[in-house]
Amino acid sequence: MSPSAVSPPQSTTELTKSGVAHTIAKTAPSITQNGSSTLAELDAGLLEILPTISPRPYYVPGSPELYTNGTYCTDHMITCSWTAASGWQRPQLKAYGPLSIMPTASVLHYATECFEGMKLYRGFDGRLRLFRPDRNVSRLVRSATRIALPAFDPAEVLSLVHKLCATDAPKWLPATNPGVQLYIRPTIIADDPSLGVEKPRQALLYIILSFLQVNNQVPGGVRLLASDDDTVRAWPGGFGFAKLGANYGPTLLAQGEARRRGFGQVLWLLGDKVTEAGASNFFIVLRSKTGQDQLVTAPLGDNIILDGVTRRSVLDLARERLHDQLEVQEREFKIGEVVQAAAEGRIVEAFSAGTAWFVSPVSGIHYRGKDIEIPMSEGSTGRYALMLKTWLYNIMYGKEKHDWGYVVDEEVA
Ligand SMILES: *Cc1c(COP(=O)(O)O)cnc(C)c1O
Repeated sequence: MSPSAVSPPQSTTELTKSGVAHTIAKTAPSITQNGSSTLAELDAGLLEILPTISPRPYYVPGSPELYTNGTYCTDHMITCSWTAASGWQRPQLKAYGPLSIMPTASVLHYATECFEGMKLYRGFDGRLRLFRPDRNVSRLVRSATRIALPAFDPAEVLSLVHKLCATDAPKWLPATNPGVQLYIRPTIIADDPSLGVEKPRQALLYIILSFLQVNNQVPGGVRLLASDDDTVRAWPGGFGFAKLGANYGPTLLAQGEARRRGFGQVLWLLGDKVTEAGASNFFIVLRSKTGQDQLVTAPLGDNIILDGVTRRSVLDLARERLHDQLEVQEREFKIGEVVQAAAEGRIVEAFSAGTAWFVSPVSGIHYRGKDIEIPMSEGSTGRYALMLKTWLYNIMYGKEKHDWGYVVDEEVA
């Protein structure tokens, strides 16, 4: 059985593309049409359940205990090991706790890591929901294969996420307290204990449920500091489209400086092109010279920005529900266009969008000594951001029945 059943592109200039094809052919051939492998593929059906024998103290969401000693997690986690020799092992659901990896582990030296960020919502109808989780798990495959980690059928990871949520939600996200959420962090690391600079031969997938503290109700909106030429988040031929740890560590200095100067986030420019805001996608509504409102956001085509689930959902809802008021434009735009629109009074509003920070209104951008003020028509938000955020919220918490809400049936204790 040849691992090259999927024939990779042979162009000498497309090493990354052919590396991804090889990785998939070897580790998850079933997700392509024509593959089978001698290695075990990820199989959620084999999950071994090892319930915790020491449940963790419960705190009501919002309690300081959840945020004082790092990020607090629920009772269980799911782990699944992979080796190049035998493939994916049996996944396990077990007590949340420390991982054991060697000091030589690839991830600690070469940033062979990727992750996802999704949420579990306790609806006002008492049910648990994920929001478009199929998009997160397929993005996890794209991220993993970009950083030489093994592939898998995304539906198997979704099934593991489902299982962990179903197990821990009854205690940690009780139905008596709707409108509350947990943050789900699926992660893959190369725990290969080898210092050699090469593709890892050992990896670990794990999934944890946490209480992420996000402060997205910034009164008066977030102020963004446009990045300067000494820091670029992502570039053509890079990996800005993938949720790799390697994309975040190097941005923390700039983010820390921005915070120290009183800004909420960095507005990432590539040259003079506007890309994203912090770890969220950025949107601006401009009024054209003929009076048409246009929702503008950076395009996906050049692989620089992250294909956000929230971004996509904002665009979909705007196209479906606001088409009579708002023209949607996924296109390159430059900071100069924003500066000019501001001077001409044509900025209607701006916001950033992502799972962690949800829809956050932006009230200003500082760019090279100039403050660009951004209107907030409804006081603490613009009206488009408010509508979009409300629709998304209603879908997430089951106030509006929608295909994007993926119901998790919980385990009855
Ligand atoms: C995670 C992330 C986003 C938001 O993506 P969602 O799927 O909406 O959560 C946007 N930009 C970056 C850089 C991110 O890491």
